[in-house]
Amino acid sequence: MKFPRANLPYPLVAVLVALLLTLNCASPEAIGKLDGAVKPARIRAHLKILSDDIMEGRAPGSRGGELAAKYIASQFEEAGLLPAVGDSSYFQNVELIGAKHTPSLTLNGAGRTWRLNPGTEFVGVTKIEQPLVSINNRQLVFMGYGVDASEFSWNDYANTDVTGKVLLMLVNEPKSENDIFFGGKALTYYGRWTYKYEEAARKGADGVILIHTTPLAGYGWNVVQNSRSREQFFVRSPAGARQLAFRGWITRGKAEEVLNAAGLNLDELISQANSASFNPIELPIRVSASVSNKFRTIESPNVIGKLLGTDPVLKKECILYTSHYDHLGKNDSHSGDGIFNGAFDNASGTSALIEIARAFSEIQFKPKRTILFAAVTAEESGLLGSQFYVQSPVFPLAKTAANINIDAVNVWGKTRNIIPLGADRSTMMEVINRVAMEMNMEISPDPMPEQGLFFRSDQFSLVKAGVPAVYLVGGLKFVGKPQDWGQKLMDDYIKNRYHGVKDEYDPSWSLEGTAQVAQFALKTGLYLANKPTMPEWHDGDPFKKIREKSIAEMAALKD
Ligand SMILES: [Zn+2]
Repeated sequence: MKFPRANLPYPLVAVLVALLLTLNCASPEAIGKLDGAVKPARIRAHLKILSDDIMEGRAPGSRGGELAAKYIASQFEEAGLLPAVGDSSYFQNVELIGAKHTPSLTLNGAGRTWRLNPGTEFVGVTKIEQPLVSINNRQLVFMGYGVDASEFSWNDYANTDVTGKVLLMLVNEPKSENDIFFGGKALTYYGRWTYKYEEAARKGADGVILIHTTPLAGYGWNVVQNSRSREQFFVRSPAGARQLAFRGWITRGKAEEVLNAAGLNLDELISQANSASFNPIELPIRVSASVSNKFRTIESPNVIGKLLGTDPVLKKECILYTSHYDHLGKNDSHSGDGIFNGAFDNASGTSALIEIARAFSEIQFKPKRTILFAAVTAEESGLLGSQFYVQSPVFPLAKTAANINIDAVNVWGKTRNIIPLGADRSTMMEVINRVAMEMNMEISPDPMPEQGLFFRSDQFSLVKAGVPAVYLVGGLKFVGKPQDWGQKLMDDYIKNRYHGVKDEYDPSWSLEGTAQVAQFALKTGLYLANKPTMPEWHDGDPFKKIREKSIAEMAALKD
């Protein structure tokens, strides 16, 4: 899609501007004052220091992480933002629970007993904060994909009481010949493994064992094994939230072996699960599982500043910008300096966030709604800083009109396109289209819809709480470069630098593109802040019902 640019003759524009100014009803967007508001040189200065070795990879709870947080807070203050935490501080302390787990899993049935090998045959973790969490002799139920999605008329849980049971499930979502289920090719949240655990806990189950298959998961068993054998971090759930005792994965091979012994066939079960008439199957298998745990608590802040809205009514609503500042820290046993500098991921976004904040406080006509800027922590540990924020928001979520998130922002120069992930799910898209037109940029669709990128950065914490959001991702059509230039750069980054010690600042980076994305985010936020009404999810979107509930609860509170 390409948008035409308004082409008014210059003198006419000048007259219009003068007229608007005399009438004192001009807004910065009308007179184009915002163009060039975000300065690449300033972004570079932040990016260099945030990705410097002195920040030690900005791990939550580390000295370097704390240093980064303090740097960001001082920049927020200098940019003119007010402290947003209790109106007195820029720091929202996030308690992160670190856990090392040693699991066991025994399956019993069909005259046999399987004691599975941790790591190579299964992994298991828990969020229940006890030294030993165990369940004994529980019924194993094959749940298909474990999805309850009323808007897609799909409920694997229909007519089944799963209380206290252990659920064996597939990852991803039901498949059909023509991708007719759910979001078609695009992965919905119902396909994410995190959803499977959450839904099973809500339904009263005590354990979930996900069957790993490389095509359904999108990655090999080694990824599951490596990620679960490290220390796991989580934030404490709100009091009263049900937790699974056992959150497990099993290899396809082992699952097949057990099912075969019970006279069942995994491929047949999968094909049954791909039908809306699927019913859960009680397997002739009992499960005993335990997880022994070592916990510790670390603290790391979200850094939050605000700019008060000017409209007496609308200032009680806000636009929330987020970008994570944490990265993976350092590993002394690693070859080289062992520091995961996280320059692209996400010193780039943090630096852009600071400059969006500065641009906002410098514009002449201040936004009507309040603007919040949150540099969040522990994204790399599973979106934990933003999850904590949602559990303890500094501004009511029902009054949070929209979230704009940036993470790993283009550092290679200006592009002709931008990818506004998730914006098309809500009326926010109208504003995105307007900004794209004004900036003479194309909107490009999600290049990898099957990957569910929208669920993988901090905006998703807000989305799960019903807040409409956009994750602004830079496009790869670079101005003045060959067509495949951007894709090659991105492939190289993913192969050689992503989450590695080589994600370092490079003086040859052109931060014009970073400033361009920041400018896009600035305009989007400003227009959203000045619109008479908050954006709304489109009908049928799974997150619409959460938003409506949140707004109704807020209204009930006032009555
Ligand atoms: Zn990131």
